[in-house]
Amino acid sequence: MPNRSDRDPDAGRRRAAAALADARRVLVLTGAGISADSGVPTFRGEDGLWRDHRPEELATPEAFARDPRLVWEWYGWRRRTVAGCEPNPAHLALARRAARDEGFWIATQNVDALHEEAARRVSEGGDGPEDGGEEEGAAPDRLLELHGSLFRIRCTGCGRRAPHREQVDASELATLPRCGACGALLRPDVVWFGESLEPDVLEAAGRAARTCEVCLVVGTSAVVQPAASLAVSAARSGALLVEVNPEETPLSARADVRLAARAADALPGLLGD
Ligand code: NAD
Ligand code: ZN
Repeated sequence: MPNRSDRDPDAGRRRAAAALADARRVLVLTGAGISADSGVPTFRGEDGLWRDHRPEELATPEAFARDPRLVWEWYGWRRRTVAGCEPNPAHLALARRAARDEGFWIATQNVDALHEEAARRVSEGGDGPEDGGEEEGAAPDRLLELHGSLFRIRCTGCGRRAPHREQVDASELATLPRCGACGALLRPDVVWFGESLEPDVLEAAGRAARTCEVCLVVGTSAVVQPAASLAVSAARSGALLVEVNPEETPLSARADVRLAARAADALPGLLGD
């Protein structure tokens, strides 16, 4: 069913901005598109390829079991690619709203940690949580990294997790990082193809979807689960569904407001930033 915003983008923009301003609970779902404006390559683009390997060949538990050195070498390249990128106005507008609004949730499929970096910048800029507490960035418990982070590691033995930004020497197996506690190999703390999402994170995202008044979906092709099902669940529970994406997606037909725009252009205005 065509919606109003397709015929009159300004009316759609106003409707979405007003709903976002009034809502007590909001869930924002983001995908690779929000970071495209920061220069992070999406998997689908040519830049997503590394030495002719497709991500599906390397981002799997089987690939890591077979050749952990190659997988770490690829993650080293991905970390370097992302480390040179900055949060853009879309990440910053979301971080500012999340810092002042306890009903504002961000669930991202991205592993680039740019939402976290934006939150850190906002809190350092004196625009963060009122208590000025010790947390790193704004309210990390309302930032749900559905697929983990390039800048965290997890032990393949004891499961210990930790932030990790140091360079990894992937020149040989012997130099790969190992757990200080149990000696097993450390792996990137990301959800690989064929793996399940963290139950706690998924549960929190599901709850946010069922209870939000507005669900804002930004820069995801909505073909990777659970982004699509979270948005559908929000819409079924009565939330206004707003999509920001220059291209149509399988969700577009269900959106109450569809904005064919780039995230960095649309979000600051939508969030009154
Ligand atoms: P996707 O690559 O499947 O789709 C990206 C979507 O963003 C497309 O629909 C595209 O039209 C839209 N888009 C492009 N530029 C945009 C812009 N400037 N503003 C708004 N939208 C824009 O991404 P996905 O749906 O997130 O799924 C990809 C999977 O790959 C995820 O599971 C994710 O974990 C992983 N991944 C992550 C990153 C990252 O961390 N930045 C990058 C590549 C892939
Ligand atoms: Zn361990």
